[in-house]
Parts: sequence; structure tokens; C-alpha cells
Amino acid sequence: MRRLGLILLLLLLAAGLWWNRVAVGERLYARAAASRADRDALRDPGDGLTLLFCGTGTPLPDPDRAESCLAVLAGPNLILIDAGDGAVRKLAGKGVRLGGLDAVLLTHLHSDHVEGLAPALLLRWTGSAARTPLPLIGPPGTAQVAQGYNLMLAADARYRTAHHGEAIAPTGGGVFAGRDAAPGVVWNAAGLLITAFAVNHAPVAPAWGYRIAYKGRVAVVSGDTAASAAVAQAARGADLLIHEALQPGLVAGITRGLAASGQARTAQITRDILNYHTTPEQAADLAARAGVRELVLTHIAPPLPSRLFHPAFLGDAPSRFAGPIRLADDGLRLFLPAGSTRIEAGKL
Ligand SMILES: [Zn+2]
Ligand SMILES: [Zn+2]
Repeated sequence: MRRLGLILLLLLLAAGLWWNRVAVGERLYARAAASRADRDALRDPGDGLTLLFCGTGTPLPDPDRAESCLAVLAGPNLILIDAGDGAVRKLAGKGVRLGGLDAVLLTHLHSDHVEGLAPALLLRWTGSAARTPLPLIGPPGTAQVAQGYNLMLAADARYRTAHHGEAIAPTGGGVFAGRDAAPGVVWNAAGLLITAFAVNHAPVAPAWGYRIAYKGRVAVVSGDTAASAAVAQAARGADLLIHEALQPGLVAGITRGLAASGQARTAQITRDILNYHTTPEQAADLAARAGVRELVLTHIAPPLPSRLFHPAFLGDAPSRFAGPIRLADDGLRLFLPAGSTRIEAGKL
């Protein structure tokens, strides 16, 4: 009898919710929106070097990974390294406010590293009512990429200023200031020193890696490259080596599938990419040679639909580097506190 009463009560409750489903939906949505608006993933990160992996994929379509992007947070500095498709919007969607973005650095001009730049520009501009252009710094050709974006977005910038007004979208903030730099120091402000060095991504040249140093903590980003002694040299004694990785053994499966289904041209592309990337085993060798504390693999090719494939992706790498090897995924957050040797991992 008591059970029947309970069932009746639950049925009545369900009917009430169904009857009021529009109002209930509106109320729940407003509550979620308020908590989301209050979220600031960069609030009180502590003093140290924070690395946010906004995009860990490649041009090979991957529903789980945006194209290349790494956010660097250190003291008052907020820098993006590369901005591939989907990455910056993913970062913002995880609660990272980009109004304080200082600059975007490019490793090279492949599309999967530059084609997501527009949201970085817009979110920084409207997030801070910026009146100055957003610096875009990288190898020769970067200024041309900036010009192209400025041309593409000229009408958009005018519309937004006209619509929201000068107080919110001021004239002059919705554009890039592109700068073709040379290897060496590209950023030096408030304790954050970023140095570019040449890597080997031929025929893509120049292509750079970056050494990022803040208060004694050092992370080195390989950029896209075949296995290169330049990376090991730049990473000597660093805390962290963030290296691109492609597993030929798994890519071969894609190549065979494409060839067997009559897609010969795409199959050939999957063969061509083998010679200008680094295998996880080679990245592990470089990490060992450099003596870093930890190796993080990113720019993961091919797509890995499940963690079950991580061992096949890593291959022999764990036996070649004694430290931890981590496969980055979108949303990975690493924090290297100042005055410590710790590397703390979390999720955005
Ligand atoms: Zn790439
Ligand atoms: Zn590339």
C-alpha cells in the first residue's frame, strides 16, 4: 500500500514537471548560465607556469581534438602558441577568459596552426574593449597571415563597432598587428621569456619550436618537426618537453584503408606526412637526451578514438625515457609552481 502511494507521488511529480517543462527548462538554464558566466578558469592560478592544452590534434579529422593550440599563463602574461581550428572556442567554452590575451605566437604557417585565429581576435577585443591591435608574432610570412585576417574581418570589425559602440568594441582593437620575427627572444615581459628556435619540418620553412621560461621553470614546445637535435638542445635541463607525435604503425592502417577503398590521393598524403613528423619513440629518445622531467605528447596523429589505443600509439617509447610520458588531450592543464620541481596535472 505504501509502495503504491510512493509510485503515485512520483507519477504526480513527473506529470507536474512535464506540465511545466518550459518554465523548468528556463529556470535550470538561467541557473547554469549564471554559474557559467561567473566561471573564470584563470582565476588565482598561483605563481608559476601554467600550460593549457587547447588543441592537441592535427588536420586529420578528430571529434575529440581541436587543431594545434597551447595557452601559456605566467604572472600577468597570457600567450597563445598557435590557433588551429576549433581550439580557441574550446578554450573559451571551458571558462578561459581571453580579454587579457597579450599575443599569439606561431610555430609555422601550416593551416592547422593558423586557421582558428579569428576567435582569438574577437574574444580578446570584446573581452577587454581593446583599443590596440593583437600582436601576432612568428616566422617570416606571419605579417601576411595577419594582413589576410584583417582583410577578411574588416567588415565584421566595422559591424561590431557600429552595433555595440566604441565603449565595447572600440575601433582599432579588432585587428592583428603581424610581425615577422627571427629566431631568438620573441617575448620578454614580467618574468616570462620565450625564445624561438628553428626545427626541421621541411619543406615547411622556417618552422620553429619555443622555449618558455618563467621563474626557473622551463617548458619546451617542439612545434611540428621531424626528430631534431635542435629540440633536444633547446630542452636540455628543462622541466617539460611538449613534443608533437605521429605513430607510423597506426597511420599505416589508415593508408591501407584509404588505398583499398579507391582513395589513392588521400592515401598518398598519409604516406607523405610520415617524413616531417616525429614518432613517439623518437620523442622519448629526445626527452632522454635532454634530461627533462616529463614528456608530453601532443599534435597526436592519427586520431585515437579510445584510451585503449594509447599503448599502440606509444609503441616502444616508455622503454626509452625513464620519466613520465603523458598523452595530452584538449583541456589538459599543467602547472609548474615557481620555486618547486613539481608538475601538477589537472583538467580545465
Ligand atoms: Zn600541424
Ligand atoms: Zn605542420
